[in-house]
Amino acid sequence: MSHTHEFERRVRNHVEELEDIGMRRHLQIGRGISLSSNDYLGLAAHPRVKQRMADAVLRDGAGSTGSRLLSGQRESFVRLERRFARWKGAEAALFFGSGYLANLAALSTFLEPEDVVFSDELNHASLIDGLRLSKARKEVFAHQDVYELSRLIERSETRGQKFLVTESIFSMDGDEAPLSEYAVLCRATNTALIVDEAHAVGVMGAKGSGLIEEIGIGQDVFLSINPAGKALGVGGAFVAGPSWAIDYLVQRARSFIFSTAPPPAMADGLDAALDVIYDEPELRTRLLNLSVRLREALIERGMDVPAGCSQIIPVIIGDGAQAVDVVEILQIQGYDVRAIRPPSVAPGTSRLRLSVNVTLDEETILNFSLALAEALEQYAGVAA
Ligand SMILES: *Cc1c(COP(=O)(O)O)cnc(C)c1O
Repeated sequence: MSHTHEFERRVRNHVEELEDIGMRRHLQIGRGISLSSNDYLGLAAHPRVKQRMADAVLRDGAGSTGSRLLSGQRESFVRLERRFARWKGAEAALFFGSGYLANLAALSTFLEPEDVVFSDELNHASLIDGLRLSKARKEVFAHQDVYELSRLIERSETRGQKFLVTESIFSMDGDEAPLSEYAVLCRATNTALIVDEAHAVGVMGAKGSGLIEEIGIGQDVFLSINPAGKALGVGGAFVAGPSWAIDYLVQRARSFIFSTAPPPAMADGLDAALDVIYDEPELRTRLLNLSVRLREALIERGMDVPAGCSQIIPVIIGDGAQAVDVVEILQIQGYDVRAIRPPSVAPGTSRLRLSVNVTLDEETILNFSLALAEALEQYAGVAA
């Protein structure tokens, strides 16, 4: 290794600074009853999904051997993209290695310097990084504030294209974006609507394709980004939209072109995941019922739970170190819960991000809400 002393000391100091303010992160393997997994429907462990992937590895090999534009192209990717687009009510779709890469592509490829993009202040880091890679003018609006947004759009003058970027179910707050209002606003102002469905795809809507389907605004959406490592249980992500736009991604999206295609077995796993979502709609119903049950139980025990009805339920603690303490008490009791701290969320809003999944049952959820209430009380006692 050759580097200067000063460099190593600088890096070590940065980590110590994090330690000092209680913000140092540790990689931790989950143990116990999970209330932090994004595998909402249990598809990562579903026998049909696992079997299809295992068969595909034995048939097609471990890796894809190249970029999709070179040796990585496969019939199974093409078939899956067509199926996904149909499900989503879009003309076409393109499969990426991850949601992060898909968001970099969607935002950096279409946004040009004369454009203006309106972005919700709580948008995911991958959306923000995509915006950073573009030279378009950025206007950040207060979380889900339709009034502020409409004022900003009205006032903005551009010769280029206007874009609105939002998540549908927000990843750290679990609340739903006002998509029907956004659709009306975008239609009236020729603004292109881009929706990240990371926590809605597979969960919301009659067919399970997301909140766009549930609200019925497919016609008003330019692009949807659909990470497939959460409710779909596997990994990768689909960008869905009009054919002319998806074709342009193939020409220009650097995170698509300059990256090895995902292992082919992922396509088979996702095809099986879509089969399960079609065949077992009761998984979605169960998830939403359990989520409502946990929200009710937390509110009954006096906790401050923000509005919403999704499977993501934040319990705001405020201070980061306090959130970590509460989490430790719960982990000792066998619950896998995690504290979310800045920069994932705004300073002073550290929280437990609880996420419900179908492997839980009502009794477990009630027991957990009691344990959480006691942990919060115990901590309040210590602090006093
Ligand atoms: C998780 C997430 C992503 C990134 O998807 P990955 O497939 O995990 O890279 C993008 N957007 C949102 C809102 C997310 O929650």
